[in-house]
Amino acid sequence: MDLARLVLAAEPRPFWLDRPDAPPVRAPVRGEVACDLAVIGGGFSGLWTALLAKEADPQRSVVLVDGRQVGWAASGRNGGFCEASLTHGTANGRERFPAEFGTLQRLGVENLDAIEAALPRHGIDCDFERTGSIAVATSEYQVDGLREFAADDGVTFLDAAAVRAEVNSPAYLAGAWDKTSTALLHPGRLAWGLAAACERLGVRIFEGTPATALAGDGSGVAVRVRDGVLRAGQVALGTSVFPALVRRLRPYTVPVYDYVLVTEPLSAAQRAAVGWQNRQGIWDTGNQFHYCRLTPDNRILWGGFDAIYHFGRGLSAAYDQRPETFTTLAEHFFATFPQLEGIGFSHRWGGAIDTCSRFCAFFGTAHRGRVAYALGYTGLGVGASRFGARVMLDLLSGQPTELTQLAMVRSKPVPFPPEPLAYLGVQATRWSLARADRRGGRRNLWLRALDAAGMGFDS
Ligand SMILES: Cc1cc2nc3c(=O)[nH]c(=O)nc-3n(C[C@H](O)[C@H](O)[C@H](O)COP(=O)(O)OP(=O)(O)OC[C@H]3O[C@@H](n4cnc5c(N)ncnc54)[C@H](O)[C@@H]3O)c2cc1C
Repeated sequence: MDLARLVLAAEPRPFWLDRPDAPPVRAPVRGEVACDLAVIGGGFSGLWTALLAKEADPQRSVVLVDGRQVGWAASGRNGGFCEASLTHGTANGRERFPAEFGTLQRLGVENLDAIEAALPRHGIDCDFERTGSIAVATSEYQVDGLREFAADDGVTFLDAAAVRAEVNSPAYLAGAWDKTSTALLHPGRLAWGLAAACERLGVRIFEGTPATALAGDGSGVAVRVRDGVLRAGQVALGTSVFPALVRRLRPYTVPVYDYVLVTEPLSAAQRAAVGWQNRQGIWDTGNQFHYCRLTPDNRILWGGFDAIYHFGRGLSAAYDQRPETFTTLAEHFFATFPQLEGIGFSHRWGGAIDTCSRFCAFFGTAHRGRVAYALGYTGLGVGASRFGARVMLDLLSGQPTELTQLAMVRSKPVPFPPEPLAYLGVQATRWSLARADRRGGRRNLWLRALDAAGMGFDS
């Protein structure tokens, strides 16, 4: 099979945004606009912030601006795994926040439950399915880790026969099925649905409106935008991987590109050949891991593995396409599902992840408490961004709350060094993680040094 040709036949755009019901583009800000709260960024972070602010206080005037369009960036191009975890998984959370890990887990489940409850309340149909997820072992050394993971409440260990009875892949040696902590959803429909819900509550949304600077403005903040200015009492920044308007935050994140393929819809015979009756999200437990799921129309979405960083924190539309990564992904796809040989891919795309060194979001304020931010979700922000929105609103309230008192909210990750060290560090880490995957998970000196510095990554 010529995989390079097969993947190039796919549409080079996110499957989730390639729909006839995509909303029309909204007008930009021109001139001066006044509001109580200005939200910068129309991804999930900004949209939940605007929605929750209006729900809490319908009198508050809220404006949301996006440099391009609602949902075009990570929020419209992810895997659609909406996780309860706020900490990029249990291992990372337990290690970084041991004293409050139980609280963070409770808050995470409450957050996922609240997302599920908000959808019907606001009439948002985003194909939400609370299927749970299976972590699978694809190498023998990963099996014991899954047994440990399955000691957690609500997680069931699956041996090779049991995991293949769920999803039929010869690559799967064992699994750990968490039945409640993951929902799968349609990210594009969620972003568009949240925006429509915001507007029904009175939020004014402007697109094509990049914000370029923040400045104190009497008792509020002036947000300079391309063709005007927002005069806001307070500002919430949901700007993710894009250059932070608060400059001192820039060293805390780096953009890392992640890539996805989506197949053509599976025929009834192909569906029968893979099983997957319970439609769980699947991820494997290598350092360079894949994730996969069924879409609402029964395609397979297959992403992950490569994580590409460009020198100087490079961000570019050109990086959304990477033929060699798509070919690698296709090769791994057919090794996982050999019974699907002959199926084609309909879509291929990539997107930038706002990676920070602790792998879960960090929060804070600037401009004397009038500007709040939540950044650094590191590839697991579909669910956690609603929590980040609540944190931003609590920080802006100026009152201590359960969320503002959390060590996770009060602390920051270790910043990345300037170039060329950032580039060299990321390349050394990628090389070492790939090597660890080939050597039974054994971490070399570099990875152990990062672990000791609180920057270690283990999926
Ligand atoms: C390929 C891929 C797969 C992923 N898979 C998953 C997954 O399965 N599950 C999961 O939980 N997470 C996943 N993620 C991560 C998840 O998508 C993000 O954590 C989440 O969407 C972040 O939302 P956000 O609103 O913070 O950022 P974004 O969606 O990136 O939105 C930020 C918005 O801010 C706007 N903006 C930035 N700066 C300015 C400015 N100065 N002025 C105006 N507007 C500005 C941008 O235009 C953009 O629309 C994935 C990410 C990628 C790229």
